[in-house]
Amino acid sequence: MDCLFCKIAAGEIPSTKVYEDDTILAFRDINPQAPTHILVIPKVHIGSVAELTEAHAALVGHIFAVIPEIAAREGLTGGFRVVSNCGPDAGQSVPHLHFHILGGKELSLEMA
Ligand code: AMP
Ligand code: ZN
Repeated sequence: MDCLFCKIAAGEIPSTKVYEDDTILAFRDINPQAPTHILVIPKVHIGSVAELTEAHAALVGHIFAVIPEIAAREGLTGGFRVVSNCGPDAGQSVPHLHFHILGGKELSLEMA
C-alpha cells in the first residue's frame, strides 16, 4: 500500500521510534510543533478516526494505555495534549490514523 505511515510501520522508511509492539508504533514527528511531539499509529492501515468502529475498541484502548506511558517516559509532568486530525477540514495530511502527543511547553489553543 502506498501509505507513508504503513511504510514507517513496516520499517521501509526510517523513523525515530520511541515505542513499538506487535500492533502499534510511536515515533517522533519530523516537524515538531512542541518540544515533545510524538505520533502514535496502529500498524494496520486505518484511514482516520472516521473509519473507527467497535471492532477497533481493543486497538484504540491499547493506544490510549500506551500514551500515558510514553508521556511519563518523556517527562511530560506538566501535562500534554493528544490530537487526531480527521479529514481535510482538520488539516489531516497523512491518511493513516495517528495520534499526536504534544508537550514540553505551555500549549496554545492552536493544535500545538
Ligand atoms: P496530520 O497533519 O495531523 O495528518 O499529521 C501528520 C504529521 O506527520 C505531521 O505533523 C508531519 O510533520 C508528520 N510527518 C510527516 N512525514 C513524517 C515522517 N516521515 N516522519 C515523521 N513524521 C512525519
Ligand atoms: Zn497506512
